[in-house]
Amino acid sequence: VLDYYRYNPLIFSHLDACHDRFIGKGFKEITDLSTPTKSKFINSVRENFSLKTTEKQDNNFKDQLNVISAGSREKEIELVAKQIKLLLQNKNTEPNKICVVFNLIEKYSPIIRDRFSLFGIPFNLTDRFSLSTSEPVKGIIHFLEVAEDDFYYKNILRAFSNYFIQIAEVDLSNLLKVSVELKIVSGYANWISRITDKINELSSNYDENERREELIKNCRQAEKEIQKIKSMLVPFEKKLTPEQFLNEILSLIFELNFPATILNAKNDVVEKDLKALNTFINSLREFIEILKLESGKEIKYELRFYLNQIRTLTAFSRYNIAEKSGYGVQITTLNEIRGLNFDYLFICGLNDGDFPTRFSPEIFFSGSFAKEEVRYQIEQRYLFYQALCSWRKELFLTYPLFEEKKELVQSSFLQDFLKIFSTQSKNEQSFSSTIFSKRELLEHIGFLQYEERKSINISEELNINLQKINHSIEIDKKRKEDPFGNFGYSGFIGENIPNILKDQLNEITDREFSATQLETYAKCPYKFFLENILRIQTVEEPLEELEAFEFGSLLHSILFIFYSSLKRTGIVLKNCSENDFKMAEKLLFDLAHKKFDDLNLTSESAFFEREKLLGINDKKKNSILYKFLLEERNRDDGYIPSFFELGFGKVKNESAKRIPVKKEIKISDVKLRGKIDRVDVNDSDKTLKVVDYKLSGTKPTIEDLKTGLSLQLPLYLYASKELISAYFKDDYKPAGAQIFSLKYSEKDFGIRLVNLYKKGKNDSLENKIENAEEMIKICKSMVSTYVKAISEGKFNLSLLDNRESKICRYCDFKKICRIQEIN
Ligand code: SF4
Repeated sequence: VLDYYRYNPLIFSHLDACHDRFIGKGFKEITDLSTPTKSKFINSVRENFSLKTTEKQDNNFKDQLNVISAGSREKEIELVAKQIKLLLQNKNTEPNKICVVFNLIEKYSPIIRDRFSLFGIPFNLTDRFSLSTSEPVKGIIHFLEVAEDDFYYKNILRAFSNYFIQIAEVDLSNLLKVSVELKIVSGYANWISRITDKINELSSNYDENERREELIKNCRQAEKEIQKIKSMLVPFEKKLTPEQFLNEILSLIFELNFPATILNAKNDVVEKDLKALNTFINSLREFIEILKLESGKEIKYELRFYLNQIRTLTAFSRYNIAEKSGYGVQITTLNEIRGLNFDYLFICGLNDGDFPTRFSPEIFFSGSFAKEEVRYQIEQRYLFYQALCSWRKELFLTYPLFEEKKELVQSSFLQDFLKIFSTQSKNEQSFSSTIFSKRELLEHIGFLQYEERKSINISEELNINLQKINHSIEIDKKRKEDPFGNFGYSGFIGENIPNILKDQLNEITDREFSATQLETYAKCPYKFFLENILRIQTVEEPLEELEAFEFGSLLHSILFIFYSSLKRTGIVLKNCSENDFKMAEKLLFDLAHKKFDDLNLTSESAFFEREKLLGINDKKKNSILYKFLLEERNRDDGYIPSFFELGFGKVKNESAKRIPVKKEIKISDVKLRGKIDRVDVNDSDKTLKVVDYKLSGTKPTIEDLKTGLSLQLPLYLYASKELISAYFKDDYKPAGAQIFSLKYSEKDFGIRLVNLYKKGKNDSLENKIENAEEMIKICKSMVSTYVKAISEGKFNLSLLDNRESKICRYCDFKKICRIQEIN
């Protein structure tokens, strides 16, 4: 049967030639009178669709024609699902009498799977899946890409995040940890050499250190993991003939245990993955045959060539999974329902661009298939017309208004349709008085008052624990009313906990604290809790660049070795001779060159940092290190740099040196640990100054020192006074803390005093000592307060007024804490 109507060229003119040929061959035209009411509707479409503009709309079908608009594609499908639920429930319809169609179904398939499952609607989705989105196929491609891009860490991460690429010997999180720690971005040789160097470096250090042991273990494991991956990819490193490549891929699929992974998966994905893998292997076989025919069997190609072909092949290949006939709501494309009839039909995605789609000439593929835009529009209109012929009881035309923030245009087909027929309109509001899913019920319960919640009756079948919900709602309410209140869910976990947990909290306060930890507690107790008690770590990506903190530690290490070596030569920089200065300069620059070269960095930013450190355009005088030497030589305060990287407690960094004094640094019962960059001593008046190297040049504010937010320098003053007095067996007094800014720019470079008072105050030695003692006093009092609060389990969110700028802005935990609700 050829469905044709001569007088509406905007629907049928592409069939003119075909119709005339049939008539020429003796075929007869007949009018379909089988379904009289329906024929009236179809006839009206045939005669008027896209032609009629001014006359009155046809009211005869209003009860059967519906238009549903929604805010987004997701909402559109939600409203379709709700409408289907109403049909199933109110009209006792069988699901298989309902059909939902799309022109571009791929935009909707994931949304349908999600929303229809959520609303508990059985459905049968006939969508053809692209091979490029199939997990086993992506697994093969990503695994081969590890070899293609020479072990680029992102490819390793991508490959091993695929559940088909699971190799017993490879632990992805360990590989990532090591790549971040050792700054390995890519290159198999680079992975191995950096890991080996690190193991050697750590093994030659005999300090007892848990972290060192753990890192050695991680490095050894990472080395084996990388070697294992390499061994599986070796066959693809050389050029291969098409047949060899096919055989290697098949072996790899078996070596990676794909068949077992597929069969052990959940039932609903077994068929899909199996079909995808099968389609992939068949398509690959076809491609290999074509390649052999076109270029010969013996030509060998590199992996990159094959991967490019596979990527194209999978992007254009699709596969189907078998339909479950007669099961659920039928969801398919417009093309698939030609000639079929359903009681209820939904035509969705009625936007310009979706249906009609934009015309894209095919001349780029083949001149012989080129179509004119007009003809293309008519073909699409005909497709719409055919869909309009496929319903019996009700028709639903649906469209979304927005896609993300972009406004969508209603389909011109729908606009033409509305010119002919009166319809019923529905939108989100139309469905708002009914609850359609368990999730909506839970949301509804959430908005009820306590008394209302108590009186509702919920069927056991729904498995909803109202008591638990009441409890959660009450907690949430309390949290909102008093976000920093003294109760467990606001971070005060010390009360009403078993004794065993109380003991554990007390044990925490027995540990050694660093200034950084205590400063974190001061700014945000909750952040302290996450980092130091739950020990949550965020995973970073490895960077080849020299990050600021690494540049800082490089500088620290250079200056430490420099001063230790200089001390052995007997040279004192302050007011030194030209000759001594030259010797010191050579010592410092040779050392820095070697340290930088050892890092083996190649990025542009690393080059820039090197120039800043060692001299722009090889001019030493334009360097941080030269400026440092000058600053030290010209100092006139009577202090001599005497102790470097002075450690106390168990310091993380192995290079921290303790002076040979056994002295525990404590404030009340609180044990402390840390590493002081430098202590300068004035032997004549028996005073000392603490020096902290900083790349940023910023120094603590008076406010932070007074309120106990900045503890590091006061704590170091206290520790150095204790240690140095013990070392010299004499009373050495603290006379100030200094920031040595190593920022390249002239105006920011140099030594700055950290003080509790504004400049201009009498700066006699007595005042300096008094000021330093005052800083220590505040620090001691605050440290005791903080550690007491920790032992009591007080871990509330940051109470600071300016918390956003002080700590939250760069906090990794912003997404999991509730501060945004409070703000
Ligand atoms: S975002 Fe702010 S309040 Fe939240 S954990 Fe981090 S520092 Fe604390």
